[in-house]
Amino acid sequence: MRPSVLDPLFGSAANLEGVGPKTAKLIDRLLQEGTQPARVIDLLFHLPHSAIDWRNRPKIAAAPLDHVVTIEAKVIDHRPPGPRSKAPYRVLVEDETGDVLLVFFLANPAWIKKSLPQGATRWISGKIELFDGYRQIVHPDHVLDAEGFAKMAWVEPIYPTTEGLTQKMLGKAIGGALGKIPSLPEWHDEPTLTVLSAPAFAEALRQAHRPDTPESVRPEAPARRRLAYDELFASQLALALMRSRIKRAPGRMSAGDGRISQKIIAGLPFALTASQETALKEIDADLAAPTRMLRLLQGDVGSGKTLVATLAMARVVEAGRQAALMAPTEILARQHFQTLIQFGAGSGLRIALLTGRDKGVAREKVLAGLAEGTIDIVTGTHALFQDDVVFRDLGLAVVDEQHRFGVHQRLALGEKSQAADILVMTATPIPRSLVLTYFGDMDVSNLREKPAGRQPVETRVLPLGRLDELILRLKKAVGEGAQAFWVCPLVAESELIDVAAVEDRFIQLQAVFGAKVGLIHGKMKNREKDEAMTAFAAGLTQVLVATTVIEVGVDIPQASIMVIEHAERFGLAQLHQLRGRVGRGGSHAFCLLLYKAPLGENAKARIAIMRETEDGFRIAEEDLRLRGEGEVLGTRQSGLPGFRLADPTAHAALLTLAREEARKIVRKNPRLDGERGRALRLLLNVFERGEAVKYLGAG
Ligand code: ADP
Ligand code: MG
Repeated sequence: MRPSVLDPLFGSAANLEGVGPKTAKLIDRLLQEGTQPARVIDLLFHLPHSAIDWRNRPKIAAAPLDHVVTIEAKVIDHRPPGPRSKAPYRVLVEDETGDVLLVFFLANPAWIKKSLPQGATRWISGKIELFDGYRQIVHPDHVLDAEGFAKMAWVEPIYPTTEGLTQKMLGKAIGGALGKIPSLPEWHDEPTLTVLSAPAFAEALRQAHRPDTPESVRPEAPARRRLAYDELFASQLALALMRSRIKRAPGRMSAGDGRISQKIIAGLPFALTASQETALKEIDADLAAPTRMLRLLQGDVGSGKTLVATLAMARVVEAGRQAALMAPTEILARQHFQTLIQFGAGSGLRIALLTGRDKGVAREKVLAGLAEGTIDIVTGTHALFQDDVVFRDLGLAVVDEQHRFGVHQRLALGEKSQAADILVMTATPIPRSLVLTYFGDMDVSNLREKPAGRQPVETRVLPLGRLDELILRLKKAVGEGAQAFWVCPLVAESELIDVAAVEDRFIQLQAVFGAKVGLIHGKMKNREKDEAMTAFAAGLTQVLVATTVIEVGVDIPQASIMVIEHAERFGLAQLHQLRGRVGRGGSHAFCLLLYKAPLGENAKARIAIMRETEDGFRIAEEDLRLRGEGEVLGTRQSGLPGFRLADPTAHAALLTLAREEARKIVRKNPRLDGERGRALRLLLNVFERGEAVKYLGAG
């Protein structure tokens, strides 16, 4: 159980002071894991990706273009747009060296008049750019009077965020979260602290969120190194504890005779792919060996992992044992259950479902079946490893982690039988070099082939300058019945401009496609979003202009074209995700990457890789290689989930240190006894690896 001193960290973010219901919802959208609303710790672990240095305060004439600056200027003239005009509201300001136009799209005139009174002096921050030969700042980041200016933090952290959640709202919530950090003992020993030369955990969090120089947000800053080390060390310690437990248990042979798995295969309306065959051979060999299997099965969503797991479980049942398949959510557990029933039909497999929702008699029946051995395979949620769940003879535990990376489920289910083989399925391919980091010493099987039933997507790249040409071609395709997503990027720092850009594009496309264009973005009401999706799904609209809100969970198989505008602004993993939205139906699919020239080196490389491959594994490798080379991408875009504070590239050296330390501790103090042990347990709990401790007592 989690020590109560940590409770303030695991309270809901919505209860923080200064977080209203609207902000809370947006914070959930940004940080929530599955169905669990964002907590204080999630805010604390959400670190800034950059910082703006407001100390840079040049005269207007000397201000560098396209850099964030703060100017001190006098308000000269207001130029509101005409009635019903779509033009922006402009305000002219000047200092003794020159003038700048402040440009506001979709502006609130009352706010502008109030914050920029004629004749007043104001401190204005933003990027100065040239437009038609005039200097302008589109949507200044700050407009401050003398009082506001005096209160301004000089170095402002900038966080990855989501549409509608401003830096200000997020900053305030994080401020509240910082106030909740309890006083905790140091969990590292002196030599480690000397190597790290870093502040204590709580102080490191404070420094990470309140940088005093722009350099303080870089991965090599002491506070960031400390936090990264804590996270890496917690995961390595949990892995080391698990390994020591699992190694103590010798495995058993579970060689099946094929009587059930052959029936399942014979009943399939398709043949196994080559990589499914290979994975099964590898698993079979593990099962037949007298050592305990600890294997990872990786493959994109839809690559056929569930079938492989089903056949592996069938093999174990053939050998007279039971198997369990654990899913991260209730919905997935039910889905797995349906799949198992379907694959298992006619094979004689006795399959049951057990989730937290099953209560009373139904639950008793399943429990009895598992204990007596009249149930061969059970699928469910974490309800599977409650204490009253007892198996007659569990031979194989399959854990479907999807996109979560935790050792605790694996550990717990493995504990149901001292010798059960363990197979972990994950839908986020990670580079080979990182398998060790995330999973410890596991064997790996990969399903690299194109997910079953998927069409290859033809990827083309063209500059924004050829937009008109693209629209013409799209018109032809739409005339022939095709459906297309048109994605505009999100620049978190200036969301009003984003929405303006999406709306502009929508209006432009409307002129060509009329009522066949739909629009969806995060500023719309849920009902409006649903309507837009429904119309597109029904084919009433054929082009859907969208921000990245469509990235998650949209399944519209008949859509065959994906246009991504400003592709250079997206991370590789995100581009891969977006492209995966098309090519699900029967027709030939296209992905068109529109970029703004000139491309930076890194963006050029990302786009080249997209053109070269659709292999999620290859893309993950390249993503890792490119990251950290100049461009800072938010962690959510990085495609390497699991770690929130550590950057596997920048902090690779810390990982080695963490692994060595963790092994040393497991050797010297395997039960985490004493004062140091207590501190280490706190660390594990802060990083939600507490389950690794739960089983220490048992062995
Ligand atoms: P994953 O678990 O990796 O997300 P699934 O096992 O759910 O993938 O498979 C996705 C779909 O593909 C399912 O409908 C499954 O029946 C089907 N499928 C699995 N293997 C093959 C195959 N070799 N050929 C054709 N379809 C397959
Ligand atoms: Mg699946």
